[in-house]
Amino acid sequence: MHYWTWLSAAGIAVLVFLITLTPAHDAFGVLYTLVIVLIAGRCSIKTLRIVAIGCLVLECIAFFIVHDGALFNTGVARLALSITATLIVTIIAERDKRARDTLERQARILAHADRIKTLGQIGIAIAHEVNQPLSAIATFAQSGTRWLHRPAPDLKEALYCLDQIDANTRRAAAIIRNVQDMTRGEQVERRTILDLRKVIQETITLLKNTDMSNTIEIHKISGGKLPFIHGNKTEIQQLIINLLMNASEAVTQAHIPAPVISVSAQVISEKGAFVQIQIKDNGSGFQNAPTDSYFEPFRTTKKSGMGMGLSICQTIVEAHGGTIRAENTPPSGAMVTVTLPLAEPTP
Ligand code: ADP
Repeated sequence: MHYWTWLSAAGIAVLVFLITLTPAHDAFGVLYTLVIVLIAGRCSIKTLRIVAIGCLVLECIAFFIVHDGALFNTGVARLALSITATLIVTIIAERDKRARDTLERQARILAHADRIKTLGQIGIAIAHEVNQPLSAIATFAQSGTRWLHRPAPDLKEALYCLDQIDANTRRAAAIIRNVQDMTRGEQVERRTILDLRKVIQETITLLKNTDMSNTIEIHKISGGKLPFIHGNKTEIQQLIINLLMNASEAVTQAHIPAPVISVSAQVISEKGAFVQIQIKDNGSGFQNAPTDSYFEPFRTTKKSGMGMGLSICQTIVEAHGGTIRAENTPPSGAMVTVTLPLAEPTP
């Protein structure tokens, strides 16, 4: 308890004791309730009881010092009044303290449960995000082995596969680090000025050799230089990969004979300087629900889905000061639009 609270409580107790030494003012013993109120909730129940007993003793001492003979009977009534008041306030303060302690205990239990839930979410998010680089590592390891097992081993191709394994391993490690930071709610600091066009192209290259790149045509960004953003490269890559994987799964599930997924990016100047990235596919679109609801965690319509992809995308985009929205594009297909602020000043 605070030093000043104790000092004030002691001061009030002494003052009340001195007042009650005056015969006409012995009913002022009720003012000991102020001492109880002052320390209530700031000390343990044991301390509260000790202080209450101290107040009662002071009331009795003052009473016996002041009263004798004829005054005794009227004084007893006043003493009983102030003792009753002190006891009632002590009981109320004790109950209040117990209620506060219970609430604090419950808050601690809840905080602990929250930490366990957060740990679960970290695990699920990592499992979701690391899946892609891990399958890329497996694919490159297999094709590297094939290049080496040829009658005339192609070392150049094998080295390329090793490079890709190295890059994807680093990416998986960076993803784990970022997901941990994101789930802890920490501001991600590892940000640099990024050339968005380069990041998008590198991300599409990362998907080379995967099922997606074999079956789907990805329209790369054309035209001049795209603007620069201030961001975390691994997170922006995760964002694009998640959206591309969703688009790929949508066209695969809908058995589209000529699947098309396009990625486009353009500067929009309303409300300041922003860049808009759009990922569009010709699958069957979002099913029977407001598209906003698909950004909630664990919202999935896929048998083996986790429902984390869009929720992670939203976290990434918002951490970069941007917005993300999804919509269906009649007659078929879906489009996700990400708007990110441009880096200031543009290099
Ligand atoms: P998951 O892919 O594990 O289901 P997501 O959060 O990435 O988790 O996606 C949530 C849901 O949003 C998907 O199950 C799917 O129903 C819907 N969805 C996402 N992207 C698309 C898309 N391009 N076309 C149609 N539906 C989509």
